[in-house]
Amino acid sequence: MASPRCVENPEILEYQRFLDDGIRTHSSDEQINVEESVAEMFETFLLSRDDDHPDKTKPQLHRKRHINFLLKGLVCLSESYECLDASRPWLCYWILHSLYLLDQKVPQEGNSGVVQFLAKCQHPEGGFGGGPMQFAHLAPTYAAVLALMIVGTREAYEVIDRPKLQSFLMRMRSPEGAFRMHDGGEVDVRGAYCAAVAAKISNVATPEMFDGTAEWIASCQSYEGGFAGQPGMEAHGGYSFCSVAALVLLGHERLCDTEALLRWLSNRQMRYEGGFQGRTNKLVDGCYSFWQAGTYPLIHSILGSHDDTALSTTDWIFDQMSLQEYILLCCQHKHGGLIDKPGKARDFYHTCYCLSGLSVAQHFAAGKMAQKPLLGPSGNELKQIHPLYNIGLEPAYHANQHFAALPVPK
Ligand SMILES: [Zn+2]
Repeated sequence: MASPRCVENPEILEYQRFLDDGIRTHSSDEQINVEESVAEMFETFLLSRDDDHPDKTKPQLHRKRHINFLLKGLVCLSESYECLDASRPWLCYWILHSLYLLDQKVPQEGNSGVVQFLAKCQHPEGGFGGGPMQFAHLAPTYAAVLALMIVGTREAYEVIDRPKLQSFLMRMRSPEGAFRMHDGGEVDVRGAYCAAVAAKISNVATPEMFDGTAEWIASCQSYEGGFAGQPGMEAHGGYSFCSVAALVLLGHERLCDTEALLRWLSNRQMRYEGGFQGRTNKLVDGCYSFWQAGTYPLIHSILGSHDDTALSTTDWIFDQMSLQEYILLCCQHKHGGLIDKPGKARDFYHTCYCLSGLSVAQHFAAGKMAQKPLLGPSGNELKQIHPLYNIGLEPAYHANQHFAALPVPK
C-alpha cells in the first residue's frame, strides 16, 4: 500500500523534483523554492525518526493543538479576521466542521451561540448574508445552512426559513439555469453548487429551480478537462469540485466528460510535494487537498454507476499516502491549525480544507474489501465526510431524515 514516492525513500523522491531545463522563469523559480521548503520539512521529519522504532515515528496529526486553536476561534477572533467580516457564516462552518472531523464535541453554549448568530445573518427576504444586516449571498447561505446541519438540533434546523430560502434561490437563478451569487452579482459555478446544496439538503428544490442548470455547468468544462467558473475560462480545482458535485446532486453526472476530468485532475497532484495545485503550472496549496482530492470519490461513484468492472481494476486513482504526507509533514502549524504550504500563516479556511482532504485520503477505499489507507498511527484517523456536502456523514444523514419529512414549500 505504501507509495514508492514517499518521504522514507529519499532517492526515489529526488527523481520527482522539478526540472526547468535551464530556462528560468518567475514561476519555475517559485516552484523550486517551494520544493526546497518542502524538502526541509521532509528532512526534519527523517532526522526526528527513531531508527530503532520506525513504525512508532510515522507522521503524526497534532490533534490537541488543532482542537485548541479551533475552540478559541469559536469565541474570539484576532483583528486579522476583520477582512472576513462579510464571511462570518463561513468561519462558523470551517470551525465546526474541523472540530467534527477531529471528533471534538462543541460545548452546548458554543453551538447555541452559533445558531443564534446565524439566525441574525438570515435576510428577511430569504438566504443568509455574510453577517447581520448584510445582503443575502449564496456563499454564506451555503456556509450557514451547512453549519446549522452540523449543529444538528431542532433549534438549528428551524432557523432556516425554507419558503423564503426557496424564493431567494429562484431570484438568483438566471434564465439559462445558472445562478448569480447575490442580487446584481457575478454568475459562476459556485452559485450553482451553493444553490444545489442549500436546496437539496433543506428539501426546497423544485424542477423549475434547476431547469437547464446541469447543461450550463457542463458547458464550463474546459479543453483541459477541469471545470472553469464560467464557460471559456481556465480550469480550476474549486470550480471543478463545485461543478462535479452539483452535477451529481442534480442527477446529471453523465454530462461530465469523466475521462478528460480524470486526466486533468491526476496531473494536479504534485510529484515531489505530494499535495495538489489548483490550476496548471501553479504551486501546491493545502486547501486543494480537498477541492481536488475531494473530486475523486465523486468520479469513482460516476465510474461505478457506469460499469462495475471498471472499479475493480482501477484500484487507487490518486496517491493517497503522498497527500497524507504533504498535509501531516508540511501543513501543520506548530501552534495548531493548518496552512497552505510551509512558511504560510494558519487560518480556519486552510484548517478546514486540509483536514477535509486528509479525511478523503484516509477513507476513500476502492473495492469493498480494501483496507483503509491510513498513514501513521490510528490516532491520525479523522471522521469521514459526505462527499457532496463536505459535512460529516452523520449530520448529513440526520438532516436528510428531518427535512425529507417536510413538504417542499409551494
Ligand atoms: Zn489555499
